[in-house]
Amino acid sequence: MKDSGDQNGQAPIIFDSHCHLDDRAFANDLDQVITRAKTAGVKAMMTVGIDPESCRRNVQLAETCPGLYASVGIHPHDARHCSNKILDELAELSKHSKVKAWGEIGLDFNRMYSPRPDQEKWFICQLETAIGLGLPMIFHERDTQGRLYEILSGCWNSNSRGVVHCFSGSRQDLERYLAMGLYIGVTGIITIKQRGRQLRKLVKLIPLERLLIETDAPYLTPTPERNKHRRNEPAFVARVLEKLSQVLELPPGEIAAATWQNTCRLYNI
Ligand SMILES: [Zn+2]
Ligand SMILES: [Zn+2]
Repeated sequence: MKDSGDQNGQAPIIFDSHCHLDDRAFANDLDQVITRAKTAGVKAMMTVGIDPESCRRNVQLAETCPGLYASVGIHPHDARHCSNKILDELAELSKHSKVKAWGEIGLDFNRMYSPRPDQEKWFICQLETAIGLGLPMIFHERDTQGRLYEILSGCWNSNSRGVVHCFSGSRQDLERYLAMGLYIGVTGIITIKQRGRQLRKLVKLIPLERLLIETDAPYLTPTPERNKHRRNEPAFVARVLEKLSQVLELPPGEIAAATWQNTCRLYNI
């Protein structure tokens, strides 16, 4: 998809590279949520699968909505329910023209909703599946002390593409991901006073051509919306853009244009 940004003084055109529109938080007003996103300049969105049902629902949504794309994958929280049969079904579903990525997959040693051996087993299986299908991958990492990187570097090849979404790691993690050619997704955490402090320092190390912006809606509502709304939604990705513009000292239109192009390049749109 070509064309983005600040031409003719219009509001920047934004890609929300990661959200969960199938979530039940949007069950009653999804049409309005999408309309508000478009009004805010969010012309494209990636709605990300976490379990078989969410994958099917996201593909259905993407089918009916221009500018909406879907991914399929099993989240590390749900790894204990994964099976080869499920991966076969998702591989089939991934052939749909609106499916542009495999994910979100990875490891989460913070919540431990699935035991570590299950998380690692199904992460590796899904990596192999996605690489086999030639799909870009969406990675979720939390508190793995370098384990995600270790596994990734074992199967990564020069054709592999992916994003570490909602980046929350250390400087060393960031440098390793960048060296592998990964994109880095920045959420509304960057707008939060305490929690975003480290991220505001590290984003300066991300080359502009590797940066993505995302809401991870309905989670992680950015400031100042968090004072009024508990639920995050794609329209609020504009707050991530504004904060990045302050931190990086670049015009919002320039960041919107770069992240739009990066997202389209990653997802092959
Ligand atoms: Zn995630
Ligand atoms: Zn997510």
